[in-house]
Amino acid sequence: MSFVAGSSTGVSVIVVGAGFAGLTAAIECVRHGHKVTLLESFPEVKALGDIISFGANAGRIFKRWEGVEEKLDKICLNTKGIHFKTYLGEEVYYQEWTPEETFGKPFNGHRGEIHEIVYEYAQKVGVDIKLGHRVTGYFETDSEAGVIANGERFTADAVFAADGVRSKGREIVLGYDDKPKSSGYAIFRTWFPSDKLAENPLTKFMCENGDNHCAWLGPDIHFIAATIKGAQDFSWVCTHKDDADIEESWQTPGKLEDALKVVEGWDPAVIEIVKATPPETLVDWKLVYRDPLPTWISPHARIALIGDAAHPFLPTSIQGASQAMEDGATLAVCLELSGKSKVPEAIRAYEKIRYERVRMAQKTGESTREKWHKADFANLKEKPDTIKLQRGEWLLGHDAETHAYEVYDGTVAALSS
Ligand SMILES: Cc1cc2nc3c(=O)[nH]c(=O)nc-3n(C[C@H](O)[C@H](O)[C@H](O)COP(=O)(O)OP(=O)(O)OC[C@H]3O[C@@H](n4cnc5c(N)ncnc54)[C@H](O)[C@@H]3O)c2cc1C
Repeated sequence: MSFVAGSSTGVSVIVVGAGFAGLTAAIECVRHGHKVTLLESFPEVKALGDIISFGANAGRIFKRWEGVEEKLDKICLNTKGIHFKTYLGEEVYYQEWTPEETFGKPFNGHRGEIHEIVYEYAQKVGVDIKLGHRVTGYFETDSEAGVIANGERFTADAVFAADGVRSKGREIVLGYDDKPKSSGYAIFRTWFPSDKLAENPLTKFMCENGDNHCAWLGPDIHFIAATIKGAQDFSWVCTHKDDADIEESWQTPGKLEDALKVVEGWDPAVIEIVKATPPETLVDWKLVYRDPLPTWISPHARIALIGDAAHPFLPTSIQGASQAMEDGATLAVCLELSGKSKVPEAIRAYEKIRYERVRMAQKTGESTREKWHKADFANLKEKPDTIKLQRGEWLLGHDAETHAYEVYDGTVAALSS
């Protein structure tokens, strides 16, 4: 079965949230012939955030959007691999991005810049985007679903709650307000121009031959730095233990002195990188944890949670945004195959198709962090397999659209037996 661009299924969808989950779902729904209205609480689109990674499984989705890959190529990281060092600065392994390692084309770059490209594409393909619309309530019946935003009611055949880690949509799906827990870790993150670092003898290796990507691993801490756009821009992230209160805002400022304390005694290059960071660019983001939700869909199966609203990821999975995109690609196919008269069938199939795969992908976040933070640091050179990224074809070689076409009928049959 293959979809016909521009066909109209008559299915109407409301998407809440214009992050990567919401935008992808909206674009994919339009591609598959559905009518979409997208409501976003931000009154305007700003280039917020810093580095974000999309695996080849998400790359396959971008590649179907005309002109988007070319735009992403201009702003994304262009390296052939990643250097692993111990926290003391000894290089222990270079993992090259061969096709056997990446299973297609990944994209890493500034979250705000990539978001802008995807947002513009959503506008271009005709998604009806309403900014400044904060959704305050969800409702559904046997025959429709809807939301309330700015005091107005919006209804459609289906609603996708792509409203991120603080999802309001979770209440109607779960029947209770699900509170996040502290994961015990936090992450310093930043993005700034690399000129100062290019002049410093200790850090210029990051800027000399185009983009560079380097990870330093230490006891219960890891520090990853990258130069991007021909080494013009610099980004680093540092995951470390943290017992402070849970905060989940991208706006939480970080303090350079706190970051310097975390990497005390480390490779002088790391310390120079932290010292060169413009203080106003540093974010301290607490990594929260949520138990896996028992379900992502509402009682009448007309409302679906997608992206971080359904399944927040640890950054060490390097899959949060990619899995968010796969959700939308899957839902669009399911709705095409169900048609307007069987929307709940599509929503149930979406959950069944995605649930186990997402759990497996989430677990890679914990396993990678554990192997990096508890490595045998004195003998790492002899044991590179204990730290190299191993994510496999099952994860990165996946094509969500093709997969949904292949398994839809069998999934529906299994659900009704
Ligand atoms: C501002 C921002 C900056 C980020 N920066 C980074 C980064 O640098 N690196 C990284 O790895 N990840 C970053 N993330 C997270 C990352 O984008 C997500 O983890 C991932 O892409 C999954 O996206 P999502 O669409 O599910 O959730 P999100 O990206 O969180 O998007 C959710 C969207 O829903 C909107 N929303 C929430 N509640 C409502 C409501 N009630 N009504 C209407 N709209 C609502 C939000 O404004 C937001 O636009 C950032 C997220 C945000 C929101």
